[in-house]
Amino acid sequence: MYDAIIIGAGPAGISAALYAKRANLSVLVLYHGESQLGKAHKIDNYYGFVDGITGAELYAAGIEQAKKLGIEVVESEVTGIQFETEQSYSVETPGKAFSGKSVVIATGNKKLRPAVKGIKEFEGKGISYCAVCDGFFYRGKRVVVVGDKLYAFQEASHLAPIASSVVVLTDGKDTAEISALVDGAGPALAGKITVDGRKIAEITGGSSVGSVVFADGGSIPADGVFVALGSAGGADFAKKLGLALDGDSIKVDQKMATSARGIFSCGNVNGGLLQVCKAVYEGGVAGLSAVEYVRSLSK
Ligand SMILES: Cc1cc2nc3c(=O)[nH]c(=O)nc-3n(C[C@H](O)[C@H](O)[C@H](O)COP(=O)(O)OP(=O)(O)OC[C@H]3O[C@@H](n4cnc5c(N)ncnc54)[C@H](O)[C@@H]3O)c2cc1C
Repeated sequence: MYDAIIIGAGPAGISAALYAKRANLSVLVLYHGESQLGKAHKIDNYYGFVDGITGAELYAAGIEQAKKLGIEVVESEVTGIQFETEQSYSVETPGKAFSGKSVVIATGNKKLRPAVKGIKEFEGKGISYCAVCDGFFYRGKRVVVVGDKLYAFQEASHLAPIASSVVVLTDGKDTAEISALVDGAGPALAGKITVDGRKIAEITGGSSVGSVVFADGGSIPADGVFVALGSAGGADFAKKLGLALDGDSIKVDQKMATSARGIFSCGNVNGGLLQVCKAVYEGGVAGLSAVEYVRSLSK
């Protein structure tokens, strides 16, 4: 059992880890996939770098700094966070779950909405971003999941026993990864989930979603569309845990505490100024808040 599990190794997550570790907490950092920082060609406005620094260099340096302090930093995709006991959470990765007394979400901001005509228009009328939250509304109905990776497979797996049919749409992206996951899932799931790699042109319908139209002119009927692009992001975890959100951002107080005790969030995932300086500040606050919280448990 870790005192703090931090999801994300960007400036927010690493700052949280540094503060928590220096206060003697046992800390695990899990990271996977793109960091906004890694994409930045040059960071020219952060304190102390006279000639700037590339985002990739700063990202790697942060991870190195954490490892040097003795923090366990593991590259693994977090697929979910579950309530475990009253005083602990289970953080899930493929093949392994980690227990933590506190969790810091520092996954950066992920664009939840694909650029497909009709997605925004039908939100609340058949477009969903959370199978656990909304799957029940689609029992016996035809649903599609938009995505091409492990997260899309998990959403499809959750929907398969509930819906009459589940089609995973990769929207023109390679179908190999998702098809392998579906094929390896055993006959009960594999028989219920199909994969379609065609490019989506539009979601259409009347008062609610009715069908998905493809760029090749074809279409399939659909009562619900579940969006599950890339890896699960902080807002996806937050929705499943029932945390308070502000749009696509996680709602926090001044201590970076979310609406669930023991779960903190920091950096771009909280919205606001999407800059390194703010991610570092919020990471520091979240790390210290996790320390205060964990110490309060042992009293
Ligand atoms: C092109 C570009 C240029 C920029 N230029 C500047 C600039 O000049 N100055 C400036 O201050 N800011 C700049 N930024 C913004 C800056 O990079 C971000 O504000 C900052 O990186 C946010 O930090 P973060 O830790 O919140 O998120 P990120 O840096 O995005 O880190 C998120 C972390 O979460 C991990 N993660 C996400 N999902 C999962 C999952 N499911 N499981 C495990 N790990 C996960 C990722 O691997 C990553 O480690 C720029 C951004 C871009 C894209």
